[in-house]
Amino acid sequence: MKSFFFHEALFPSGWSKDVRIDVDEKGTITSSVVNSMPNENDEIINCAIPAMPNCHSHVFQRTMAGLTEYKTSENDSFWSWRNLMYEYANKINSEQLYHIARYVYHEMLLCGYSSVCEFHYIHRELNNPEDTNSMSQAIIQAAHDAGIELTLLPVLYQQSHVDGTPLTKSQERFYLSNSDYIELYQSLEKQLYECQKLGICFHSLRAVSIENMQIVLDELGNNHPIHIHISEQVAEVEQLLEHTNMRPVEYLFHNFEVNSNWSLIHATHLNDNEINLIAKSGAIAGLCPMTEANLGDGVFPLPEYFRQNGKIAIGSDSHIVINPFQELQILEYSQRLQLRQRVVSSNSKTSHVGTFLWNNAVSGSKLSGQFCGNGFNVGDKANWIEIDTHNPLLTNLNGEQCLDTLVFVDSNAIASTYINAHKTEKQNDKLIENYKKTLKLLR
Ligand SMILES: [Zn+2]
Repeated sequence: MKSFFFHEALFPSGWSKDVRIDVDEKGTITSSVVNSMPNENDEIINCAIPAMPNCHSHVFQRTMAGLTEYKTSENDSFWSWRNLMYEYANKINSEQLYHIARYVYHEMLLCGYSSVCEFHYIHRELNNPEDTNSMSQAIIQAAHDAGIELTLLPVLYQQSHVDGTPLTKSQERFYLSNSDYIELYQSLEKQLYECQKLGICFHSLRAVSIENMQIVLDELGNNHPIHIHISEQVAEVEQLLEHTNMRPVEYLFHNFEVNSNWSLIHATHLNDNEINLIAKSGAIAGLCPMTEANLGDGVFPLPEYFRQNGKIAIGSDSHIVINPFQELQILEYSQRLQLRQRVVSSNSKTSHVGTFLWNNAVSGSKLSGQFCGNGFNVGDKANWIEIDTHNPLLTNLNGEQCLDTLVFVDSNAIASTYINAHKTEKQNDKLIENYKKTLKLLR
């Protein structure tokens, strides 16, 4: 049993002062009192916010962060970036994937993420395509060793175009038949550690047919997290319109009962009807603003989506940066640039952008039931970020001003991330060495 006292802490309802909590051995909060007094043995923390769930990760892509920022054609785009990404996807084996994920998951913890949804599609082992287990196993082990909560999302990825065109050579490692997928899923269920989950995942409407999605859902049941990339690129919307006469989100809702188990990753290009469909369904829009900016995807219709009480989560996706504060910064800035306004993400109850977006992203994830709650309420996991109030930038600021400063000015002003009430330690030399050795082989 551990106990903590916070001078200020962020709850879903807003900032509270003088918060005292008890935490059990498993890292779950068993009592929480605001306007309290510290006990003798409490660990005292000045200011803290809930740690952030990371709703979308392709962990191997961290190895190419910063290495695709050069011209390859007249019109570089998501699609030309994807060719470079495939080169990396096709040289990583399971041992290397372990070292990458082990290091990168630890980076996530240090930056304030508490959990990760790994959207995992490199199924076939390098040089041994019959082995579809080792790559997933590397992710499971790395997350466990790093101490990050994992939702593993084995991806169904079967075709290269919505018209059913088979996968290209560079996509062959991703392929699983429906029965391969179901078999892998059922086998992975038995390989998870405590605190790890599995979710069903369809790469996109261009990569899996509706029929095959239905077969998998019928076989595995609906009571899992379900993730899909959707409406990330205008070309994808156009393809769907051409083949189905419907836009991607409309087509998805036309075919499935989308509910709060679903995470729609990106959902960038939405018309009013689609905004309404997602918001009403309780599904999450899984926004990855830094990656979306890096890939030139477009701008999510955030104000209208919030007006309709849509839920969001954030993800670091390609890991061009791993930093939840910067994700929220660019999310807000993209809106300001487009709308030529300031302070877009706020409402009458929560006027500060940092607090508004942070709470929306953390509680959106929690409401979906896909992640345990982070924060300071009874039943939450004791997963939080201690803000470094000694940083000169934060002199004399209250909690909501501190969080705005972290989002807009300097996200380095965090002291540490606590997971299950334990401070996350820095990466040790051996981890760094293993990661560097792996990068040397891949670059
Ligand atoms: Zn993705």
